[in-house]
Amino acid sequence: MKVGIIGSGVAGLASAVRQAIKGHDVTVFEANAYPGGKLSSFELEGYRFDAGPSLFTMPQYVDELFELAGENPRDHFNYQRLDTVCHYFWDDGIRLQAHAEKGAFAKEAQQKLGVAPEVVLQMLANSEQKFELTGSIFLEKSLHKASTWADPKVVKTLMQLPKLDLFTNMDRVHQRELKHPKLVQFFNRFATYNGSNPYKAPGLLSIIPHYEHHLGAYFPEGGMVEISNAIYQLAKRLGVDFQFNSPVDTIVVSNKVATGLMVKGEEHPFDRIISNQDVFFTYSKLLPNQKAPERTLRQEKSSSAIIFYWGIKKSFPELDLHNIFFSKDYQTEFSNLAAGKVYEDPTVYVNISSKLAPNDAPQGHENWFTMINAPYNAGQDWDYLIGKVRSATIRKVSRVLGVDLAELITCEEILDPRSIESKTGSHLGSLYGTSSNNKMAAFLRHPNFSRRIKHLYFCGGSAHPGGGIPLCLLSASIVDQVMKN
Ligand code: FAD
Repeated sequence: MKVGIIGSGVAGLASAVRQAIKGHDVTVFEANAYPGGKLSSFELEGYRFDAGPSLFTMPQYVDELFELAGENPRDHFNYQRLDTVCHYFWDDGIRLQAHAEKGAFAKEAQQKLGVAPEVVLQMLANSEQKFELTGSIFLEKSLHKASTWADPKVVKTLMQLPKLDLFTNMDRVHQRELKHPKLVQFFNRFATYNGSNPYKAPGLLSIIPHYEHHLGAYFPEGGMVEISNAIYQLAKRLGVDFQFNSPVDTIVVSNKVATGLMVKGEEHPFDRIISNQDVFFTYSKLLPNQKAPERTLRQEKSSSAIIFYWGIKKSFPELDLHNIFFSKDYQTEFSNLAAGKVYEDPTVYVNISSKLAPNDAPQGHENWFTMINAPYNAGQDWDYLIGKVRSATIRKVSRVLGVDLAELITCEEILDPRSIESKTGSHLGSLYGTSSNNKMAAFLRHPNFSRRIKHLYFCGGSAHPGGGIPLCLLSASIVDQVMKN
Protein backbone atom coordinates (compact mmCIF):
# COMPACT_ATOMS: atom_id res chain seq x y z
CA MET A 1 0.00 0.00 0.00
CA LYS A 2 1.30 3.51 -0.77
CA VAL A 3 0.98 5.95 2.15
CA GLY A 4 1.50 9.71 1.74
CA ILE A 5 2.21 11.83 4.83
CA ILE A 6 1.85 15.62 4.92
CA GLY A 7 4.46 17.09 7.29
CA SER A 8 7.38 15.72 9.27
CA GLY A 9 6.55 17.00 12.75
CA VAL A 10 7.17 14.44 15.47
CA ALA A 11 3.78 12.81 14.80
CA GLY A 12 4.39 12.69 11.04
CA LEU A 13 7.78 11.05 11.66
CA ALA A 14 6.29 8.52 14.09
CA SER A 15 3.49 7.76 11.59
CA ALA A 16 6.08 7.22 8.86
CA VAL A 17 7.91 4.71 11.05
CA ARG A 18 4.72 2.86 12.02
CA GLN A 19 3.46 2.64 8.42
CA ALA A 20 6.86 1.54 7.08
CA ILE A 21 7.04 -1.18 9.75
CA LYS A 22 3.73 -2.50 8.40
CA GLY A 23 5.47 -2.92 5.06
CA HIS A 24 3.85 0.06 3.34
CA ASP A 25 5.60 2.25 0.80
CA VAL A 26 5.76 5.62 2.62
CA THR A 27 6.51 9.13 1.30
CA VAL A 28 6.65 12.20 3.57
CA PHE A 29 6.25 15.67 2.03
CA GLU A 30 7.65 18.46 4.21
CA ALA A 31 7.32 22.17 3.49
CA ASN A 32 10.51 23.04 5.39
CA ALA A 33 14.05 22.07 4.43
CA TYR A 34 14.39 19.98 7.64
CA PRO A 35 12.38 17.38 9.61
CA GLY A 36 10.87 17.83 13.08
CA GLY A 37 8.57 20.86 12.70
CA LYS A 38 8.46 22.54 16.12
CA LEU A 39 10.94 19.96 17.42
CA SER A 40 13.98 21.34 15.59
CA SER A 41 17.07 23.36 16.51
CA PHE A 42 19.34 26.11 15.22
CA GLU A 43 22.72 27.68 15.91
CA LEU A 44 23.38 31.34 16.67
CA GLU A 45 26.87 32.80 17.18
CA GLY A 46 28.30 29.70 18.83
CA TYR A 47 25.18 28.78 20.83
CA ARG A 48 22.85 25.87 19.98
CA PHE A 49 19.15 26.28 20.72
CA ASP A 50 16.26 23.82 20.65
CA ALA A 51 13.67 25.85 18.78
CA GLY A 52 10.48 24.61 20.50
CA PRO A 53 9.91 21.91 23.12
CA SER A 54 12.27 21.74 26.06
CA LEU A 55 10.54 19.34 28.47
CA PHE A 56 10.68 15.65 27.61
CA THR A 57 8.39 13.18 29.34
CA MET A 58 7.23 9.63 28.49
CA PRO A 59 10.40 8.63 26.56
CA GLN A 60 9.01 5.10 26.25
CA TYR A 61 6.84 6.29 23.35
CA VAL A 62 10.02 7.08 21.40
CA ASP A 63 11.71 3.84 22.47
CA GLU A 64 8.63 1.89 21.36
CA LEU A 65 9.19 2.97 17.74
CA PHE A 66 12.65 1.40 17.70
CA GLU A 67 11.41 -1.73 19.45
CA LEU A 68 8.59 -2.12 16.90
CA ALA A 69 11.23 -1.91 14.19
CA GLY A 70 13.28 -4.63 15.92
CA GLU A 71 16.06 -2.23 16.96
CA ASN A 72 17.54 -1.46 20.36
CA PRO A 73 16.63 2.17 21.11
CA ARG A 74 19.82 2.59 23.17
CA ASP A 75 21.89 2.11 20.00
CA HIS A 76 20.32 5.25 18.52
CA PHE A 77 18.71 7.46 21.17
CA ASN A 78 19.67 8.09 24.79
CA TYR A 79 18.45 10.28 27.60
CA GLN A 80 18.95 10.91 31.27
CA ARG A 81 16.33 11.20 33.99
CA LEU A 82 16.33 14.53 35.86
CA ASP A 83 16.69 14.47 39.66
CA THR A 84 15.39 18.01 39.88
CA VAL A 85 12.64 18.79 37.43
CA CYS A 86 12.55 22.56 37.80
CA HIS A 87 13.74 25.46 39.97
CA TYR A 88 11.07 27.98 40.98
CA PHE A 89 11.72 31.61 41.93
CA TRP A 90 9.31 34.10 43.45
CA ASP A 91 9.86 37.85 43.65
CA ASP A 92 9.83 37.77 47.48
CA GLY A 93 13.05 35.70 47.50
CA ILE A 94 11.48 32.27 48.06
CA ARG A 95 13.05 29.54 45.89
CA LEU A 96 11.78 25.99 45.53
CA GLN A 97 13.60 23.05 44.02
CA ALA A 98 11.08 20.62 42.52
CA HIS A 99 12.77 17.27 43.12
CA ALA A 100 11.45 14.52 40.90
CA GLU A 101 11.25 12.13 43.84
CA LYS A 102 7.97 12.74 45.65
CA GLY A 103 9.31 12.45 49.22
CA ALA A 104 12.19 14.84 48.56
CA PHE A 105 9.82 17.30 46.89
CA ALA A 106 7.36 17.13 49.82
CA LYS A 107 10.26 17.79 52.22
CA GLU A 108 11.38 20.78 50.15
CA ALA A 109 7.84 22.20 50.21
CA GLN A 110 7.81 21.78 53.99
CA GLN A 111 11.15 23.55 54.42
CA LYS A 112 10.52 26.41 51.98
CA LEU A 113 6.75 26.90 52.27
CA GLY A 114 5.90 25.36 55.63
CA VAL A 115 3.41 22.91 54.10
CA ALA A 116 3.01 19.50 55.77
CA PRO A 117 4.55 16.78 53.55
CA GLU A 118 1.30 14.74 53.61
CA VAL A 119 -0.49 17.56 51.77
CA VAL A 120 1.88 17.35 48.78
CA LEU A 121 2.00 13.57 48.85
CA GLN A 122 -1.81 13.34 48.91
CA MET A 123 -2.04 15.77 45.98
CA LEU A 124 0.39 13.61 43.98
CA ALA A 125 -1.49 10.46 44.97
CA ASN A 126 -4.74 12.01 43.65
CA SER A 127 -2.91 12.91 40.47
CA GLU A 128 -1.73 9.31 40.11
CA GLN A 129 -5.23 7.96 40.70
CA LYS A 130 -6.63 10.16 37.92
CA PHE A 131 -3.84 8.99 35.64
CA GLU A 132 -4.53 5.33 36.39
CA LEU A 133 -8.26 5.79 35.76
CA THR A 134 -8.08 7.77 32.56
CA GLY A 135 -4.63 7.72 30.91
CA SER A 136 -5.10 4.71 28.69
CA ILE A 137 -8.64 5.70 27.71
CA PHE A 138 -8.36 9.39 26.94
CA LEU A 139 -4.86 9.30 25.50
CA GLU A 140 -4.11 5.94 23.95
CA LYS A 141 -7.32 5.23 22.04
CA SER A 142 -9.60 6.95 19.60
CA LEU A 143 -12.51 8.60 21.42
CA HIS A 144 -14.44 8.49 18.17
CA LYS A 145 -14.86 4.73 17.81
CA ALA A 146 -17.67 2.80 19.48
CA SER A 147 -15.24 -0.01 20.40
CA THR A 148 -13.42 2.35 22.81
CA TRP A 149 -16.60 3.01 24.78
CA ALA A 150 -17.53 -0.67 24.93
CA ASP A 151 -14.28 -1.47 26.78
CA PRO A 152 -15.01 -2.60 30.40
CA LYS A 153 -12.16 -0.32 31.63
CA VAL A 154 -14.05 2.69 30.25
CA VAL A 155 -17.23 1.63 31.99
CA LYS A 156 -15.26 1.33 35.27
CA THR A 157 -13.85 4.84 34.78
CA LEU A 158 -17.25 6.31 34.03
CA MET A 159 -18.52 4.87 37.34
CA GLN A 160 -15.82 6.87 39.12
CA LEU A 161 -16.53 10.23 37.46
CA PRO A 162 -16.65 12.25 40.74
CA LYS A 163 -13.03 11.33 41.48
CA LEU A 164 -11.94 12.85 38.17
CA ASP A 165 -12.85 16.48 39.04
CA LEU A 166 -14.24 16.94 35.53
CA PHE A 167 -16.87 19.40 36.67
CA THR A 168 -14.62 21.82 38.53
CA ASN A 169 -11.50 23.64 37.41
CA MET A 170 -7.84 22.95 38.23
CA ASP A 171 -7.46 26.00 40.44
CA ARG A 172 -10.43 24.97 42.59
CA VAL A 173 -9.01 21.48 42.99
CA HIS A 174 -5.65 22.89 44.06
CA GLN A 175 -7.22 25.46 46.42
CA ARG A 176 -9.22 22.63 47.98
CA GLU A 177 -6.28 20.22 48.31
CA LEU A 178 -3.34 22.54 48.98
CA LYS A 179 -4.54 25.93 50.24
CA HIS A 180 -1.02 27.46 50.31
CA PRO A 181 -1.02 30.17 47.57
CA LYS A 182 2.49 29.42 46.28
CA LEU A 183 1.84 25.68 46.14
CA VAL A 184 -1.47 26.34 44.35
CA GLN A 185 0.40 28.49 41.83
CA PHE A 186 2.99 25.72 41.44
CA PHE A 187 0.34 23.08 40.66
CA ASN A 188 -1.76 25.49 38.54
CA ARG A 189 1.22 25.96 36.21
CA PHE A 190 0.77 22.43 34.91
CA ALA A 191 -2.23 23.72 32.90
CA THR A 192 0.24 25.52 30.66
CA TYR A 193 1.74 22.16 29.65
CA ASN A 194 -0.98 21.97 27.05
CA GLY A 195 -1.55 25.69 26.64
CA SER A 196 -4.57 25.90 28.94
CA ASN A 197 -5.80 28.20 31.68
CA PRO A 198 -5.90 26.67 35.21
CA TYR A 199 -8.90 28.85 36.11
CA LYS A 200 -10.91 27.27 33.27
CA ALA A 201 -9.35 23.86 32.54
CA PRO A 202 -11.07 20.88 34.17
CA GLY A 203 -9.65 19.55 37.43
CA LEU A 204 -8.88 16.32 35.60
CA LEU A 205 -5.76 18.06 34.27
CA SER A 206 -4.26 17.85 37.75
CA ILE A 207 -3.18 14.48 36.34
CA ILE A 208 -0.18 16.28 34.72
CA PRO A 209 2.11 16.55 37.81
CA HIS A 210 2.09 12.76 37.91
CA TYR A 211 4.15 12.82 34.71
CA GLU A 212 6.96 14.83 36.31
CA HIS A 213 6.90 13.52 39.86
CA HIS A 214 6.36 9.85 39.17
CA LEU A 215 6.98 8.97 35.54
CA GLY A 216 9.83 11.46 35.35
CA ALA A 217 11.26 14.25 33.21
CA TYR A 218 14.20 13.52 30.93
CA PHE A 219 16.85 15.19 28.83
CA PRO A 220 17.92 13.61 25.53
CA GLU A 221 21.63 13.30 24.82
CA GLY A 222 22.34 15.96 22.18
CA GLY A 223 19.27 18.03 23.10
CA MET A 224 15.56 17.86 22.32
CA VAL A 225 16.17 17.89 18.57
CA GLU A 226 17.63 14.39 18.92
CA ILE A 227 14.08 13.10 19.40
CA SER A 228 13.11 14.09 15.86
CA ASN A 229 16.58 13.31 14.45
CA ALA A 230 16.50 9.78 15.88
CA ILE A 231 12.99 9.04 14.59
CA TYR A 232 13.86 10.58 11.20
CA GLN A 233 16.95 8.36 10.87
CA LEU A 234 14.92 5.31 11.90
CA ALA A 235 12.31 6.13 9.24
CA LYS A 236 15.05 6.44 6.62
CA ARG A 237 16.51 3.06 7.63
CA LEU A 238 13.01 1.63 7.11
CA GLY A 239 12.99 2.99 3.57
CA VAL A 240 10.72 6.03 4.00
CA ASP A 241 11.13 8.58 1.21
CA PHE A 242 11.38 12.21 2.47
CA GLN A 243 10.70 15.11 0.11
CA PHE A 244 11.81 18.40 1.74
CA ASN A 245 10.93 21.92 0.52
CA SER A 246 7.79 20.22 -0.79
CA PRO A 247 4.60 21.82 0.56
CA VAL A 248 1.52 19.82 -0.32
CA ASP A 249 -0.94 22.05 -2.22
CA THR A 250 -4.05 19.86 -2.28
CA ILE A 251 -5.39 16.51 -1.18
CA VAL A 252 -6.97 14.89 -4.22
CA VAL A 253 -10.44 13.55 -3.40
CA SER A 254 -12.51 11.48 -5.75
CA ASN A 255 -16.00 10.24 -4.80
CA LYS A 256 -15.31 10.99 -1.13
CA VAL A 257 -12.09 8.98 -1.15
CA ALA A 258 -8.64 10.60 -0.71
CA THR A 259 -6.59 9.30 -3.62
CA GLY A 260 -3.48 11.46 -3.84
CA LEU A 261 -1.52 14.62 -3.12
CA MET A 262 -0.76 17.55 -5.41
CA VAL A 263 2.80 18.78 -4.82
CA LYS A 264 4.49 21.39 -7.04
CA GLY A 265 1.88 20.87 -9.72
CA GLU A 266 2.34 17.10 -9.85
CA GLU A 267 -0.19 14.51 -8.66
CA HIS A 268 1.15 11.69 -6.47
CA PRO A 269 -1.33 8.81 -6.08
CA PHE A 270 -1.67 7.18 -2.63
CA ASP A 271 -3.86 4.51 -1.06
CA ARG A 272 -3.86 6.22 2.35
CA ILE A 273 -3.07 9.80 3.38
CA ILE A 274 -2.06 11.01 6.84
CA SER A 275 -2.06 14.74 7.53
CA ASN A 276 0.35 15.99 10.17
CA GLN A 277 -0.52 19.54 9.14
CA ASP A 278 -2.71 21.53 11.54
CA VAL A 279 -6.28 20.30 10.94
CA PHE A 280 -7.49 23.89 10.40
CA PHE A 281 -5.15 24.37 7.43
CA THR A 282 -5.64 20.82 6.17
CA TYR A 283 -9.28 21.76 5.54
CA SER A 284 -8.89 25.42 4.55
CA LYS A 285 -5.86 25.01 2.27
CA LEU A 286 -5.69 21.38 1.14
CA LEU A 287 -9.41 20.55 0.99
CA PRO A 288 -11.01 23.88 -0.02
CA ASN A 289 -13.90 22.18 -1.85
CA GLN A 290 -14.81 19.72 0.90
CA LYS A 291 -17.24 20.33 3.73
CA ALA A 292 -15.19 21.05 6.88
CA PRO A 293 -16.16 20.06 10.46
CA GLU A 294 -16.83 23.69 11.40
CA ARG A 295 -17.62 23.08 15.07
CA THR A 296 -14.34 21.22 15.59
CA LEU A 297 -12.35 23.87 13.77
CA ARG A 298 -13.96 26.64 15.86
CA GLN A 299 -12.61 25.23 19.16
CA GLU A 300 -10.58 27.72 21.20
CA LYS A 301 -6.87 27.51 20.40
CA SER A 302 -4.24 26.79 23.02
CA SER A 303 -2.06 29.66 24.13
CA SER A 304 1.03 30.68 22.21
CA ALA A 305 4.32 32.17 23.41
CA ILE A 306 6.99 34.79 22.89
CA ILE A 307 10.45 33.24 23.01
CA PHE A 308 13.76 35.04 23.33
CA TYR A 309 16.73 32.85 22.45
CA TRP A 310 19.55 34.60 24.28
CA GLY A 311 23.29 33.93 24.35
CA ILE A 312 24.31 34.89 27.92
CA LYS A 313 27.94 35.68 28.77
CA LYS A 314 27.76 34.39 32.33
CA SER A 315 27.09 31.17 34.14
CA PHE A 316 24.47 31.04 36.93
CA PRO A 317 25.03 28.24 39.49
CA GLU A 318 21.58 28.86 41.02
CA LEU A 319 19.89 28.01 37.70
CA ASP A 320 19.29 24.54 36.28
CA LEU A 321 17.94 23.05 33.05
CA HIS A 322 14.36 24.23 33.76
CA ASN A 323 13.66 27.44 35.70
CA ILE A 324 10.50 29.40 36.42
CA PHE A 325 10.25 33.00 37.63
CA PHE A 326 6.64 33.29 38.77
CA SER A 327 4.42 36.33 38.24
CA LYS A 328 3.08 38.00 41.36
CA ASP A 329 -0.57 37.48 40.38
CA TYR A 330 -1.22 34.30 38.41
CA GLN A 331 -4.97 34.82 38.08
CA THR A 332 -4.53 38.29 36.56
CA GLU A 333 -1.84 36.89 34.25
CA PHE A 334 -4.34 34.34 32.89
CA SER A 335 -7.19 36.89 32.68
CA ASN A 336 -4.89 38.95 30.50
CA LEU A 337 -4.08 35.96 28.29
CA ALA A 338 -7.79 35.15 27.96
CA ALA A 339 -8.35 38.76 26.85
CA GLY A 340 -5.62 38.45 24.20
CA LYS A 341 -3.05 40.45 26.21
CA VAL A 342 0.22 39.78 28.02
CA TYR A 343 0.41 40.64 31.73
CA GLU A 344 2.87 43.37 32.79
CA ASP A 345 4.60 40.94 35.21
CA PRO A 346 4.56 37.68 33.25
CA THR A 347 5.77 34.29 34.46
CA VAL A 348 9.14 33.68 32.79
CA TYR A 349 10.42 30.21 31.89
CA VAL A 350 14.15 29.84 31.24
CA ASN A 351 15.51 26.63 29.75
CA ILE A 352 19.30 26.26 29.66
CA SER A 353 20.34 23.10 27.82
CA SER A 354 24.05 23.99 28.24
CA LYS A 355 23.63 23.00 31.91
CA LEU A 356 23.56 19.37 30.73
CA ALA A 357 25.12 19.74 27.27
CA PRO A 358 28.09 22.10 27.80
CA ASN A 359 28.84 22.28 24.07
CA ASP A 360 25.54 24.13 23.55
CA ALA A 361 27.26 27.39 24.64
CA PRO A 362 30.81 28.78 24.68
CA GLN A 363 32.71 28.14 27.92
CA GLY A 364 31.46 30.32 30.80
CA HIS A 365 28.33 31.21 28.79
CA GLU A 366 24.78 29.82 28.75
CA ASN A 367 22.12 29.40 26.06
CA TRP A 368 18.85 30.78 27.44
CA PHE A 369 15.56 29.76 25.84
CA THR A 370 13.36 32.32 27.57
CA MET A 371 9.63 31.77 27.09
CA ILE A 372 6.66 33.87 28.15
CA ASN A 373 3.09 32.64 27.67
CA ALA A 374 1.23 34.75 25.14
CA PRO A 375 -2.25 34.57 23.64
CA TYR A 376 -2.70 33.07 20.21
CA ASN A 377 -2.52 35.53 17.35
CA ALA A 378 -5.68 37.61 17.02
CA GLY A 379 -4.03 40.47 15.14
CA GLN A 380 -2.34 42.09 18.17
CA ASP A 381 0.50 44.56 17.61
CA TRP A 382 3.17 41.92 18.23
CA ASP A 383 6.18 44.17 17.66
CA TYR A 384 4.92 46.48 20.41
CA LEU A 385 4.07 43.56 22.73
CA ILE A 386 7.45 41.91 22.19
CA GLY A 387 9.19 45.14 23.24
CA LYS A 388 7.04 45.39 26.38
CA VAL A 389 7.52 41.72 27.30
CA ARG A 390 11.26 41.89 26.69
CA SER A 391 11.67 44.82 29.10
CA ALA A 392 9.43 43.19 31.74
CA THR A 393 11.34 39.90 31.47
CA ILE A 394 14.76 41.53 31.77
CA ARG A 395 13.57 43.64 34.73
CA LYS A 396 12.12 40.63 36.53
CA VAL A 397 15.03 38.21 36.04
CA SER A 398 17.58 40.95 36.84
CA ARG A 399 15.74 41.74 40.08
CA VAL A 400 15.49 38.11 41.22
CA LEU A 401 19.06 37.13 40.28
CA GLY A 402 20.63 40.45 41.28
CA VAL A 403 22.29 41.14 37.90
CA ASP A 404 21.85 43.47 34.95
CA LEU A 405 20.61 40.86 32.47
CA ALA A 406 20.49 43.28 29.53
CA GLU A 407 24.28 43.68 29.81
CA LEU A 408 24.80 39.92 29.61
CA ILE A 409 22.87 39.23 26.38
CA THR A 410 25.35 38.65 23.56
CA CYS A 411 22.94 37.65 20.80
CA GLU A 412 19.21 37.26 20.32
CA GLU A 413 16.62 35.57 18.14
CA ILE A 414 12.87 35.94 18.71
CA LEU A 415 9.88 33.66 18.02
CA ASP A 416 6.30 34.90 18.38
CA PRO A 417 2.82 33.64 17.44
CA ARG A 418 3.20 34.95 13.88
CA SER A 419 6.50 33.16 13.24
CA ILE A 420 5.28 29.98 14.98
CA GLU A 421 2.48 29.89 12.40
CA SER A 422 4.73 30.70 9.43
CA LYS A 423 7.46 28.20 10.43
CA THR A 424 5.33 25.24 11.52
CA GLY A 425 1.87 25.87 10.09
CA SER A 426 0.18 26.07 13.52
CA HIS A 427 -3.09 27.96 13.16
CA LEU A 428 -2.75 31.35 14.94
CA GLY A 429 0.59 30.24 16.40
CA SER A 430 -0.96 28.00 19.04
CA LEU A 431 1.61 25.72 20.69
CA TYR A 432 -0.66 22.76 21.41
CA GLY A 433 -3.57 22.82 18.91
CA THR A 434 -6.82 23.43 20.78
CA SER A 435 -6.90 24.39 24.46
CA SER A 436 -8.36 22.22 27.21
CA ASN A 437 -10.27 25.13 28.70
CA ASN A 438 -13.56 23.28 29.01
CA LYS A 439 -14.60 19.86 30.24
CA MET A 440 -15.58 18.65 26.78
CA ALA A 441 -12.30 19.67 25.13
CA ALA A 442 -10.88 16.13 25.08
CA PHE A 443 -13.91 14.98 23.07
CA LEU A 444 -13.98 17.95 20.70
CA ARG A 445 -10.52 17.57 19.16
CA HIS A 446 -10.47 16.35 15.60
CA PRO A 447 -10.61 12.54 15.35
CA ASN A 448 -7.59 10.70 13.94
CA PHE A 449 -9.57 9.88 10.82
CA SER A 450 -11.94 11.77 8.57
CA ARG A 451 -15.62 10.98 8.99
CA ARG A 452 -16.39 12.29 5.48
CA ILE A 453 -13.38 11.38 3.37
CA LYS A 454 -12.31 7.76 3.23
CA HIS A 455 -8.62 6.89 3.57
CA LEU A 456 -7.73 10.26 5.15
CA TYR A 457 -6.16 10.29 8.64
CA PHE A 458 -4.89 12.94 11.06
CA CYS A 459 -2.01 12.99 13.54
CA GLY A 460 -0.21 15.73 15.47
CA GLY A 461 -0.94 18.37 18.07
CA SER A 462 -4.20 19.64 16.56
CA ALA A 463 -5.82 16.17 16.41
CA HIS A 464 -6.75 13.76 19.22
CA PRO A 465 -5.27 13.33 21.86
CA GLY A 466 -3.66 16.80 21.62
CA GLY A 467 -0.38 18.70 21.73
CA GLY A 468 2.95 17.95 23.36
CA ILE A 469 5.48 15.36 22.24
CA PRO A 470 4.05 12.33 24.09
CA LEU A 471 0.51 12.95 22.87
CA CYS A 472 1.66 13.59 19.31
CA LEU A 473 3.49 10.24 19.40
CA LEU A 474 0.30 8.63 20.67
CA SER A 475 -1.69 10.21 17.83
CA ALA A 476 0.51 8.28 15.38
CA SER A 477 -0.22 5.09 17.30
CA ILE A 478 -3.98 5.76 17.20
CA VAL A 479 -3.84 6.40 13.44
CA ASP A 480 -2.16 3.02 13.18
CA GLN A 481 -4.96 1.41 15.24
CA VAL A 482 -7.82 2.96 13.24
CA MET A 483 -6.33 2.70 9.75
CA LYS A 484 -8.07 -0.01 7.78
CA ASN A 485 -6.10 -2.02 5.24
P1 FAD B 1 4.55 20.15 14.03
O1 FAD B 1 5.78 20.26 14.83
O2 FAD B 1 3.48 21.16 14.22
O3 FAD B 1 5.01 20.10 12.52
C1 FAD B 1 4.11 20.07 11.44
C2 FAD B 1 4.97 19.96 10.20
O4 FAD B 1 4.12 19.92 9.05
C3 FAD B 1 5.91 21.13 10.02
O5 FAD B 1 7.21 20.67 9.80
C4 FAD B 1 5.35 21.86 8.79
O6 FAD B 1 6.35 22.49 8.03
C5 FAD B 1 4.72 20.71 8.06
N1 FAD B 1 3.66 21.14 7.13
C6 FAD B 1 2.59 21.92 7.41
N2 FAD B 1 1.85 22.08 6.32
C7 FAD B 1 2.43 21.38 5.32
C8 FAD B 1 2.12 21.14 3.96
N3 FAD B 1 1.03 21.66 3.36
N4 FAD B 1 2.96 20.36 3.23
C9 FAD B 1 4.06 19.80 3.80
N5 FAD B 1 4.41 20.02 5.07
C10 FAD B 1 3.60 20.78 5.84
N6 FAD B 1 5.79 19.94 23.82
C11 FAD B 1 6.36 19.19 24.80
O7 FAD B 1 6.10 17.98 24.89
N7 FAD B 1 7.23 19.75 25.70
C12 FAD B 1 7.56 21.08 25.65
O8 FAD B 1 8.37 21.56 26.45
C13 FAD B 1 6.97 21.89 24.64
N8 FAD B 1 7.29 23.20 24.53
C14 FAD B 1 6.95 23.87 23.39
C15 FAD B 1 7.49 25.14 23.17
C16 FAD B 1 7.24 25.80 21.97
C17 FAD B 1 7.84 27.16 21.72
C18 FAD B 1 6.42 25.19 20.99
C19 FAD B 1 6.16 25.89 19.67
C20 FAD B 1 5.83 23.96 21.22
C21 FAD B 1 6.10 23.29 22.42
N9 FAD B 1 5.59 22.00 22.67
C22 FAD B 1 6.09 21.26 23.71
C23 FAD B 1 4.57 21.40 21.80
C24 FAD B 1 5.20 20.45 20.78
O9 FAD B 1 6.29 21.08 20.16
C25 FAD B 1 4.18 20.12 19.72
O10 FAD B 1 2.97 19.64 20.29
C26 FAD B 1 4.70 19.05 18.75
O11 FAD B 1 6.05 19.19 18.46
C27 FAD B 1 3.85 19.16 17.49
O12 FAD B 1 4.21 18.13 16.61
P2 FAD B 1 3.32 17.82 15.33
O13 FAD B 1 3.57 16.41 14.99
O14 FAD B 1 1.92 18.25 15.56
O15 FAD B 1 3.95 18.69 14.17
